[in-house]
Amino acid sequence: MRSMTAEPRFLADEMLGSLARWLRVMGYDAEYARDMRDDDILRRAVEEGRTLLTRDRELARKAGERGMLLHSDDGVEQLEEVVRQFDLVFNEERTRCTLCNRDLVPIGPEEASERVPPRVLERHREFLSCPSCGRVYWKGTHWAGICAHVNEAIRRASANRGPH
Ligand SMILES: [Zn+2]
Repeated sequence: MRSMTAEPRFLADEMLGSLARWLRVMGYDAEYARDMRDDDILRRAVEEGRTLLTRDRELARKAGERGMLLHSDDGVEQLEEVVRQFDLVFNEERTRCTLCNRDLVPIGPEEASERVPPRVLERHREFLSCPSCGRVYWKGTHWAGICAHVNEAIRRASANRGPH
């Protein structure tokens, strides 16, 4: 039964930076533990109420209920594992900065004009910006590929869910 309280939050270990970025694309709060000792990673997961995502069996064991052991090496399959475990959905309107995990804020074309190429400005009116790193996002041609990756993970998760 899915909890009606807070959405799941994640902390990906060093080997799973790419998975963290995909979770951010989907709209979930996913931090990435880089250059941290296991004890510090575990403490952070507990303090911030995050599920620790790891491919390290020992670390997953130490994390107990706070941990999730990922089985696959493959990016889509890893995302599928997390989607299936937590019933994640693709919150297209809530995509976070893939670099720093911050919520994005809408900005107008004027504000974006200094930070995106002219050909992009000609074709798009809606932009999102990260308040932390300043990166500008827009749903250009690359967005279809991003959606395809996420939707493939969701499709497989539901196909492989099976009876519990
Ligand atoms: Zn950012």
